[in-house]
Amino acid sequence: MNSGKVMEINIDKVMVNTNPVVLQNLMTMRDEKTDSQGVRIATRKVTRCLLYEAANNLPLVEKEVTTPIKTFKTKTIDPDINIIISPILRAGLIFTDEAIDILPQACIRHIGMYRDEKTLKPIWYYNKVPMVAKNPDKFYVYITDPMLATGNSLIEAIKLYVDKGIPLKNIRIICIMAAPEGIANIHSHYPEVEIITAAVDEGLNEKGYIIPGMGDAGDRIFNT
Ligand code: URA
Repeated sequence: MNSGKVMEINIDKVMVNTNPVVLQNLMTMRDEKTDSQGVRIATRKVTRCLLYEAANNLPLVEKEVTTPIKTFKTKTIDPDINIIISPILRAGLIFTDEAIDILPQACIRHIGMYRDEKTLKPIWYYNKVPMVAKNPDKFYVYITDPMLATGNSLIEAIKLYVDKGIPLKNIRIICIMAAPEGIANIHSHYPEVEIITAAVDEGLNEKGYIIPGMGDAGDRIFNT
């Protein structure tokens, strides 16, 4: 929990998107006066920006295209790769509509984990990741959860894909607000994993909530 110490994080592996559009919507998300519909709209706008940022590791190939003017060669995402979006239920779901809009070839593989309130450890309840990765190098995985708090659930989710042989450089975490403790926890297990976020906040309170954060993201997004 937040001990008042400045937590050291590996900034080489953390991409913080500070685009003004992101910042404006981040403030709307955080504001306790924003209602659930407002939170959802603002969150989706932020997820879109982060998804674009995260997708900058996708391999490209050259393809021929014919415009009304001429035929020429241009770059596009390699059609022979597998793109996986893995939302951690339930708040991670907020990324999925934007993700399949931007990357229609992606497959959504849900991961269900909740936090034990006392231990803050993740408890599995749903796993839609039973696939065999025949060419693991060709898999690109984006695990989504708006709140990177302790990082424990994300570590479990990363392990799931690492165990299938998918290289760590192809696995990325997309969150919106991250606690330095959570980032350090993930990197102590998987130093190479890239984290894309809109903010690195102060830390965690004794209940494992991000300070200042936005409260319970799932409750605020789904009006519960
Ligand atoms: N999950 C949330 O929804 N909010 C937090 O602050 C931490 C974890």
